[in-house]
Amino acid sequence: MAIEVDVAILGGGPGGYTAAIRAAQEGKRVAIVEMDKLGGTCLHRGCIPSKAMLRSAEVYAGLLEAEQFGVKVDGSVALDFRRVLARREETVRQLHNGLQHLMKKHGIQMIYGKGRVIGPSIFRRAAARSQSKWRTERRNPLSPPILLLRRVRVRVSCPVWKRTANAF
Ligand SMILES: Cc1cc2nc3c(=O)[nH]c(=O)nc-3n(C[C@H](O)[C@H](O)[C@H](O)COP(=O)(O)OP(=O)(O)OC[C@H]3O[C@@H](n4cnc5c(N)ncnc54)[C@H](O)[C@@H]3O)c2cc1C
Repeated sequence: MAIEVDVAILGGGPGGYTAAIRAAQEGKRVAIVEMDKLGGTCLHRGCIPSKAMLRSAEVYAGLLEAEQFGVKVDGSVALDFRRVLARREETVRQLHNGLQHLMKKHGIQMIYGKGRVIGPSIFRRAAARSQSKWRTERRNPLSPPILLLRRVRVRVSCPVWKRTANAF
């Protein structure tokens, strides 16, 4: 199975999906190759889960000092760590769903599998293989050359891809 796109992006973290959206807004056909989950470190292990937990800690700490601020708390204040984790997971789940919806809305094709750059213009793996043509362009004499990826051909040769693609 081969998919023709203009831009293929390795990795669906914040760097990858924002680039994908921008390219799609420019009218390009775009694919993201992601070996784990769309959203990357930030959504699944970094910014979002850590801030969700920090918010719980903030609310807890605030309640412990509530009386200093003239707020009376009737009864004891306790941290329910299971609830803290459940809220964190729910926050990540909602944002992950939103992000997947955003990719669909922009017509961005998700290809799940590990990609590998094997040359200046090709990346591939069992799950995804692509051939592409690069063009180097200078907009003005002072600017660095920009590599433009043209006509990327992503060949999906692993049957696992179909299963994972449907699963997400
Ligand atoms: C605990 C923690 C808290 C953080 N908090 C903040 C914060 O508050 N604010 C902030 O701005 N930043 C924060 N960061 C940093 C932030 O997570 C990163 O800057 C951001 O995720 C980088 O985005 P990225 O797209 O470059 O990489 P990543 O988010 O790491 O995404 C890379 C993606 O590429 C995929 N991938 C990698 N190799 C391949 C391959 N060969 N084939 C297919 N897919 C591949 C990975 O599965 C991953 O999904 C935090 C990081 C951590 C660890």
